[in-house]
Amino acid sequence: MKNTPFWHEAAPPEDPSGAELPARCDAAIIGSGFTGLSAALTLAEAGRDVVVVESGPPGAGASTRNGGMIGWGHRVDLASLSKRYGAENARAILAEARMSLDFTTGLIERLGEDVRYRRTGRFLGASSQAKFEDLKRWAETEAPQLGMEVEVVSQERQHEHIATGLYKGGLHFRQHGGLHPALFHRALLNAARAAGVTVVDHTKVETLTGDAAAGFTLRTDRGEMAARDVIWAGNGYTGIGTFRDFASRLIPVPSTIIATEVLGANRVASLIPSGNMIVETLARHSYFRPDPWGERILWGGRASLNVLPEEESAKRLRRFMLSVFPDLEGAKLTHSWKGFVAFTFDGVPHIGRIGGVWHACGYNGSGVAMAPYLGHRLAERVISGEEGRTGFDAAPFSSPAFYRGNPWFLRGVELWYKLKDWRDTHRV
Ligand SMILES: Cc1cc2nc3c(=O)[nH]c(=O)nc-3n(C[C@H](O)[C@H](O)[C@H](O)COP(=O)(O)OP(=O)(O)OC[C@H]3O[C@@H](n4cnc5c(N)ncnc54)[C@H](O)[C@@H]3O)c2cc1C
Repeated sequence: MKNTPFWHEAAPPEDPSGAELPARCDAAIIGSGFTGLSAALTLAEAGRDVVVVESGPPGAGASTRNGGMIGWGHRVDLASLSKRYGAENARAILAEARMSLDFTTGLIERLGEDVRYRRTGRFLGASSQAKFEDLKRWAETEAPQLGMEVEVVSQERQHEHIATGLYKGGLHFRQHGGLHPALFHRALLNAARAAGVTVVDHTKVETLTGDAAAGFTLRTDRGEMAARDVIWAGNGYTGIGTFRDFASRLIPVPSTIIATEVLGANRVASLIPSGNMIVETLARHSYFRPDPWGERILWGGRASLNVLPEEESAKRLRRFMLSVFPDLEGAKLTHSWKGFVAFTFDGVPHIGRIGGVWHACGYNGSGVAMAPYLGHRLAERVISGEEGRTGFDAAPFSSPAFYRGNPWFLRGVELWYKLKDWRDTHRV
């Protein structure tokens, strides 16, 4: 079993390019994932001299490691957001999700490369009858306000989407889909380079000094660069240290995925007949799908909220997989890998400027549509101010006093999730 992403088979990481760090640029972007490259593309197309600095190969982070599910990524509902930010702001925040999907599917079309994007739909499986009733209520009351095309699927009709007895019905989101994230990333990288962006790979930004008025100096392990504007696009890879303003606002959480051996199109279609992306209401948060060729099952989830050895996380994910598809007992695994997502304390992404440094981050595990979109909106703001404004502007990017970037509380949260799942699966 390889410990590298299945996605790297079709789009392997680039070898070190040896690209030199220029002495100065208009805009320096730290991080070459979807956020950084999308911002870079927009800035370069507006005539800016842009340098992306990346500590690994381009796309070393989550952008080439994710599940490739593209949809309306919000973890919070209208009611809880309204309580926090008021009903109007909450609606504006949630409306951004739809805009992100429209933007990113439009971007895919514009890039013109085959990134294996398909509007497959997504099925959300309810873990109990009570959860199913909650979903049904949500689909009838909240979804229409957000323009979501959601179908309530009873347990009797669930087999059209998935061959399992585990879920008690669920919801089908017609506008969602799937893609090959590393091919999408490569298409974005090609477009950014073609627009004139310089990507300096295998170069870690170690310190950042300066301010918005005087400009910034980036010190890296391969020299220094001056920049008028700086965008932080490190998301789940922020780490503790130099970028304290972001580390103290983002919670890095590992997410892991396994790939089965080739099962064949017929066997995969017998498990997931409509080729849907699939998620569930359980806090173990399994997300799974056929690979883009419909030959294997890719299974992701929270094997743990803490980093585990690859063998152990694969074992846990396999157990989740067998709880849904017991027929896969004999299937071998070929890949097991992880990446880091960034959660925020209010559950929504944030975009803006702190200490003069621009940022878009905190996608709470749903960044395939949102990260390219917010990278673009951020670049618009760098260029002209108002145009980049979003619904997220009403939400302050908070940094609680007890937190400096080390998520010591995740062990407690993990235990709480396990109890929650136990309760959910024992509810009628
Ligand atoms: C396993 C997994 C599954 C996921 N599945 C889905 C999914 O199915 N659907 C969905 O919508 N979202 C999913 N996500 C989330 C999604 O992948 C992310 O939200 C998105 O890719 C974030 O993009 P980004 O560009 O902001 O960050 P990243 O792609 O993580 O890029 C950050 C980059 O910054 C670089 N960096 C950090 N510090 C420095 C430094 N000091 N100097 C230079 N470079 C630095 C890192 O090396 C990294 O390449 C998943 C994530 C993971 C990990």
